[in-house]
Amino acid sequence: MNLAEARRALAEAESAALGAIGAAADVAALDAAEREWLGKRSPAVVVTEVIKGLAPAERPQAGQAVGAYRARVGDAVAARRAELADRSPGSGAGIDLTLGGHGRRRGHLHLVTQIRRELEDIFVGLGYRVAEGPEVEDDWHNFEALNIPPAHPARSMQDTIYVALGADGPDELGGGAGAEHMMLRTHTSPVQIRTMETQAPPIYVVAPGRTYRNETLDARHSPAFHQMECLAVDRGLTMADLFGTIEAFARRLFDDDSVRTRFRSDFFPYTEPSAELAVSCVFCRGSGCRVCSHTGWIELGGCGMVDPNVFRAVGIDPEEWQGFAFGFGLERIAMIRYGINEIRTFFDNDLRFLEQY
Ligand SMILES: [Zn+2]
Repeated sequence: MNLAEARRALAEAESAALGAIGAAADVAALDAAEREWLGKRSPAVVVTEVIKGLAPAERPQAGQAVGAYRARVGDAVAARRAELADRSPGSGAGIDLTLGGHGRRRGHLHLVTQIRRELEDIFVGLGYRVAEGPEVEDDWHNFEALNIPPAHPARSMQDTIYVALGADGPDELGGGAGAEHMMLRTHTSPVQIRTMETQAPPIYVVAPGRTYRNETLDARHSPAFHQMECLAVDRGLTMADLFGTIEAFARRLFDDDSVRTRFRSDFFPYTEPSAELAVSCVFCRGSGCRVCSHTGWIELGGCGMVDPNVFRAVGIDPEEWQGFAFGFGLERIAMIRYGINEIRTFFDNDLRFLEQY
């Protein structure tokens, strides 16, 4: 290698070095570039070795070329290092407002909220009003006024989460009866009681909300879930009104006028007579599929005529007024409509699930 070749090699190396240093996106990349272009195996070292073989007159010029290379590449490393330091978190400086963003990701309503609002719209369209009540309830509204006296077996079907209030502690709670026992409501039915206590008939309300049971979270059970309850109180209401209302509701819910309803005798303390309510499977139209467990029917919830004892509890004369009520789970509606298998996916807050709806 002669002097001209050495200069050309240094010029090419400098060009490549400045490119690599400018492109270093972080300190680690910059350190690597510095090692490559200024380190023990860098072109400057190679040229320095070559200098020994040059003619004595050429050696100082070659030495100056190496020095100039080291100075310029070293300056570039220092400048780049300062830029990267300015950009590191917390420094505040060096924010380039012209760079643009990563786009704004908009969230949306939770699937259960979407279903709740949609159902509210359906019922408001049928002339109902949306009613609300507290999630922490007393024994009267959650059980007693609903014709579920202390020691009634229905209480054990709704495994209740009691709430310790005041200084008495949890020893005072659980088990026995009494209006002082507070609990997380096990259903939305106490809203029926609160509505009838404060409002004279005729009453047409729908009560959506969160409810709680003492259950372990698994594929089919959740300690917190959502119900929606419908209550109508008027003169001369019969089961025909109940069935017709449910049918109208089911057809709007599934947007399908061929949906049929099925009612089978059941028992609830607060309705008499009571029925389990199912709709014909909208996916297979009755021929049987996975969603309906090959029965052709999808169970939605329960319904019935308001028990006279419930009317008496809230001071409404059962001889003058009749009523019907029905209720169902909001997660269940969403699971049926979207083919969701596990109720716990509603509460995992996993965006990969939530973003699909
Ligand atoms: Zn089916």
